[in-house]
Amino acid sequence: MDASATLANWASSHLRRIGRAVVDGVLPPRCLACGETIGEPDALCGRCWRGITFFAPPWCAACGAPFAHPMGEDAICGACAGERRSWDRARSVLRYDKHSRHLVLGLKHGDRTHVARAFGRWMHRTGAEVLADTDLLVPVPLHWTRLFQRRYNQAALLAQAIRSAGGPEVAADWLVRRRRTPSQGRLGPAARERNVRGAFAVQAGRNFAGKRVVVVDDVMTTGATVEECARVLKRAGAASVGVLILARALRVGG
Ligand SMILES: [Zn+2]
Ligand SMILES: [Zn+2]
Repeated sequence: MDASATLANWASSHLRRIGRAVVDGVLPPRCLACGETIGEPDALCGRCWRGITFFAPPWCAACGAPFAHPMGEDAICGACAGERRSWDRARSVLRYDKHSRHLVLGLKHGDRTHVARAFGRWMHRTGAEVLADTDLLVPVPLHWTRLFQRRYNQAALLAQAIRSAGGPEVAADWLVRRRRTPSQGRLGPAARERNVRGAFAVQAGRNFAGKRVVVVDDVMTTGATVEECARVLKRAGAASVGVLILARALRVGG
């Protein structure tokens, strides 16, 4: 980067910060996770930052699961080598565990939706490989009854935030949830797969044929939900289906 570009970046980031301070009524920025006062808006304090595991290379070329040691750029993990999936590539920003739970679940509570702005930037950065050459972001849909209770879909909120961070267009409501699925919380992998089977469909009049799409969701545990979305999208003719997740649960040590 040359000096003038550096200066322009510096100036624009400072102008943004000043603009933000005016909008926020010059309240000191607070850590997104614990609320402690920090120097920069939309960020974490040092303690929360250190507690949360952010995924970075070396990682599985297919699913983005972290490797303990560099394995080569195209190396894939054991799970990806052993399973057939409908999606092509997946990335997640951080590990879903006791350190990140509060931060991630904040998205589901109406008073903390400002965290989506930071999450969108993180997902845009970590998901760069998956987002390259993508036409559409497809948020995992909620059933309308649940949408009615919660007033917004947290996956759609994330997709909009990724878009705002420079990502592709959002195909809001192109994919719909046909039936309300029971909560997956206590189900094992096989039960989760049965639970979501047939739950999604393409909205009448929408055409995914030839489109390169990325499915967006907040949390991934067994991956049954995104697998079912990807299956429906591939069947609808999508040219490629990526997956971009905020927080992914990993088996201990895995
Ligand atoms: Zn904190
Ligand atoms: Zn993998």
